[in-house]
Amino acid sequence: MKVKYYRDNPAIFLRRGVQLLSLGIILLAAFQFGEFVSALRSGGAESYRPPIVEGFLPVAAVVALRNFAATGVFDVVHPAGLIILILALGTAFIFRRGLCSWLCPLGLLSESLWRLGGKAKWRIARLPRYIDYPLLWLKYAAFIVILKYFFFMGAKDAAAFMRMPYYAISDIKMFDMFGGLSWIGFAIIGGLLLLTFFVRSFWCRYLCPYGAVLGFAGLFSPFVLSRDKKSCTGCGKCQRACPGIVNVAKGRAVVLSTECTGCATCVSVCPEKGALTFRFFGLVKVKPLIFGILFLTLFFGGVYLAKGEGLWESSLKFEQYRRLDRVMNRPHR
Ligand code: SF4
Ligand code: SF4
Repeated sequence: MKVKYYRDNPAIFLRRGVQLLSLGIILLAAFQFGEFVSALRSGGAESYRPPIVEGFLPVAAVVALRNFAATGVFDVVHPAGLIILILALGTAFIFRRGLCSWLCPLGLLSESLWRLGGKAKWRIARLPRYIDYPLLWLKYAAFIVILKYFFFMGAKDAAAFMRMPYYAISDIKMFDMFGGLSWIGFAIIGGLLLLTFFVRSFWCRYLCPYGAVLGFAGLFSPFVLSRDKKSCTGCGKCQRACPGIVNVAKGRAVVLSTECTGCATCVSVCPEKGALTFRFFGLVKVKPLIFGILFLTLFFGGVYLAKGEGLWESSLKFEQYRRLDRVMNRPHR
């Protein structure tokens, strides 16, 4: 299938641009965080710590959300992580897995690996059902564990966990973990990349628990993806372009799936006018570009508001980080 992605589809063009920008920001943040850790450990001058790294601490964010729900106290140590989780969840209830399709670098990597292989026949667009369905349960099992963790963790336990030095420097711990990967770690990451190259969206579809949580929230989205069976010719372009491997071209007139990321690619590539549309509460038609802009406005508007309210930068000062790092990471010194 030849999709004229960028010429004919401004929504796809915008999404690719935002995905690449998001990747660039994350890579820059990783570099800045590396400089920050190096300054901490070398005894150098204070260095900038990008708050966005807290987006990679999902467990800490879930615990902070649990504590916030129980006590109303907002985490000041990793506030950006909590804000990102709240925005990802909040926007998922409206725009489905917008975080997956617009902002997550793994989503971009997954889509790019698939596109890299072109039309090679030996790759698998969708595993046979008897493998696909059991594998799908992997990420839902992780989702159930997260739910259990959230609802059964006592408020006191959550607060106690957040007072631990380990919690305060969990970002540094994460950085060290990736910085000191053993060959087993490299083998696992390499294996996942290979699997995602050979099996479309392997990571996103079968393993990412974040995707499972957001996919569940997305079922409540007021934006209904509907297919008009009279206008639809059954060409299957939407389905082939769908990174979520959703049965768009067949089956029900209303497409409802936890795997739908709300990327709107299917709507953008459908050649039949009015055959596939996003409709607000099933009534008002919303163009893919508007859908994407609304999602981005809500997400980044939330970040902007959080910054204005002082809920973005950590309250931990550079010297406090340095002391904690010495205690936790280098007890032998
Ligand atoms: S069904 Fe459409 S909006 Fe949902 S993931 Fe597939 S292409 Fe994107
Ligand atoms: S919805 Fe559009 S792209 Fe999908 S099968 Fe029907 S006509 Fe083809």
